[in-house]
Amino acid sequence: MSNPYKTREGGATVTVFVPYDCNNHCPFCINKPEYANCADFSLARILESIETLDAITPQCDFVFTGGEPFANLESLQTMLDKIPPTHKVYINTTFPVQDDKYTAQQMLDFVERNREKITCINISRHLVKYVEESDDEIIARIATPKRVNCVLYMDYPKEQLTGYAERWRKYGIPIQFRYDYTETTPENLYDEESDRILCDLKEAFTYRGLDGCRMRNGFHFSYKDLHLTYHKTLPYSTIVETDSDGVTYDILYDVLIKQNGDIHSDWTGVKMDVDKYRRVVFEPYDLRVIDGAIEF
Ligand code: SF4
Repeated sequence: MSNPYKTREGGATVTVFVPYDCNNHCPFCINKPEYANCADFSLARILESIETLDAITPQCDFVFTGGEPFANLESLQTMLDKIPPTHKVYINTTFPVQDDKYTAQQMLDFVERNREKITCINISRHLVKYVEESDDEIIARIATPKRVNCVLYMDYPKEQLTGYAERWRKYGIPIQFRYDYTETTPENLYDEESDRILCDLKEAFTYRGLDGCRMRNGFHFSYKDLHLTYHKTLPYSTIVETDSDGVTYDILYDVLIKQNGDIHSDWTGVKMDVDKYRRVVFEPYDLRVIDGAIEF
């Protein structure tokens, strides 16, 4: 494909795959195989790529994921320091139990020191436990805004949904439920009737509204005073579309910095043409409220 790139105002979200593993084996994980061989991982090249993408889109969002961002606090500090304050920065983590390396207090102190640099920390906590979890009280003490992410995978125990919401409501921590996105298609992204998870959530919680775009969406719920979202996204991040002038664009929603520093334009292994991205065309973000209310 040699279409010019287009992206939303501000730029595509940059997801950075940290160059170190999580040592977990969640059954739905698609990142894990990339950590099997770390021979060409390079923090230096990742830093160069952060600099490159910051220069092209100085206001895009950055997301650190893995692997496990908190498995190496020195490297995480170096990467955070590389990102100017024009960007929002998110970290996806299990907030791991790793007393051999760092105590929970050391990780909490790290967050406290960097609280101005981090927009939100998203902590994985699933209905079924796949990893050793730090205490909920530890999560509640994280100094930045935080959210728990919960993948509703296969035959998840739906009778535990209300208890799960109570668990986090106690601390006022919002929840994002997630569909196994390898299963998402353009056809089922907005399909409500045959979405079993959506039906279960509507039974357990109060549906409030829907927002979304071509690529992803969020069904919003309340449970007492807690905000819950059900997030669905396509398993790729480029949409090919021809505009009214007859020009066909690759519209990029997410771009990636891989563990070796390579920049990809999609989750599907497509390397980015960085020079072409320097000439990217911007369009207004198509995320909009589709139904009801999403802020309450
Ligand atoms: S903790 Fe995250 S990166 Fe590690 S196996 Fe689980 S889902 Fe994958």
